[in-house]
Amino acid sequence: MPSAADPSRLDRFTVPDASGHFGRYGGVYVPETLMTALEEIARVYEEAKKDPAFQNELRRHLKEFAGRPTELYFAERLTKHIGGAKIYFKREDLLHTGAHKINNALGQALLAKRMGKPRVIAETGAGQHGVATAAVCAKFGLQCVVYMGAVDMERQALNVFRMRLMGAEVRGVEAGQRTLKEAINEAMRDWVTNVRNTHYILGSALGAHPYPMMVRDFHRVIGQETKEQILAKEGRLPDELVACVGGGSNAIGFFFDFLEDTQVRLTGVEAGGRGIRRGDHAARFEGGKLGVLQGAKTYILQNEDGQIELTHSVSAGLDYAAIGPEHAFYRDRNRIQFAYACDDEVLDVFQLVSRTEGIIPALESTHALVHAIKRAAEMRPDQILIVNVSGRGDKDVQQVQKMLEK
Ligand SMILES: *Cc1c(COP(=O)(O)O)cnc(C)c1O
Repeated sequence: MPSAADPSRLDRFTVPDASGHFGRYGGVYVPETLMTALEEIARVYEEAKKDPAFQNELRRHLKEFAGRPTELYFAERLTKHIGGAKIYFKREDLLHTGAHKINNALGQALLAKRMGKPRVIAETGAGQHGVATAAVCAKFGLQCVVYMGAVDMERQALNVFRMRLMGAEVRGVEAGQRTLKEAINEAMRDWVTNVRNTHYILGSALGAHPYPMMVRDFHRVIGQETKEQILAKEGRLPDELVACVGGGSNAIGFFFDFLEDTQVRLTGVEAGGRGIRRGDHAARFEGGKLGVLQGAKTYILQNEDGQIELTHSVSAGLDYAAIGPEHAFYRDRNRIQFAYACDDEVLDVFQLVSRTEGIIPALESTHALVHAIKRAAEMRPDQILIVNVSGRGDKDVQQVQKMLEK
């Protein structure tokens, strides 16, 4: 029974509300010209959500194209090495194109088809979301344009080539810091101009309603599988789940079906970068303030005048000034805890996990692993901790090699 003592019970299916708010977060802060498009997406998405044909088709593509379900893997040697709680990995790194992003890209591509929109645009930082979007557009025969900061294009040249191989047009963005934030601005500008034939596949649980809700729903499968798998393997729920948080899509998808299981601790890990000093990190809950960025009200790293701060992280996928509004909401309610991991710790654990498990995790996912290892060491051997390994590290090995040579 829902009770006042257990508020998360009441929230899970009542946020966001009809106006897209998660309490005081979220909402729809966009130019007038996009309101109709957002309303259309919200309406078509609500229909699709209830349509068994849509859900069956999505399930089939998740299995046949993306490779779901992903394994829940006991990290035996890492567990022994740490000497505390049993550590499991949810293996989103095994998915096609290398990360969880494909779950959402597939869902939204099907939605674009349903809305009769032949053209898709997307933004990308490290390139993972761009690659996933290029792949689903090739698969469904949709025209695809990906916006990417010029700096990121240089850093992630291989991903640019991958997208182009799959038929996407990659447009470099030269404004500002020339990274993700500017790429999103450019994608929004394109969308305003071409909204009638274009769907914008946003890559994280961010932006204006209905994106944070819709992206979360497309990633819920991560937590649903995890729950079934841990019950099959251990006969009980885990004690803690840990995930990295950029915009927050892999984390909210992983956590969502555990929100009501209040005995399960849920921890999101942000990027501590070079340390919690202005401009050196991307941990929004360490010094961020309430504000509006790119469509939603949430915690944002900004200065006194509301100008967005420079951010830094060793992992491009976590290097963003705003956090998904649903995370801010559950943090206020004390249901999701937050921590951060710094670049140097990430570099150590990247190597440790590669060596002990034969799995090279994405630098983003390694943030979650850093915190998971600290926590596991404090826990008892009969306790269980699951880390969402959101992606694989193949894209990062060159960068890590360079850093280790220094
Ligand atoms: C993009 C990315 C992230 C960060 O995005 P979220 O929306 O916070 O999940 C994390 N891990 C990997 C591997 C990514 O590619």
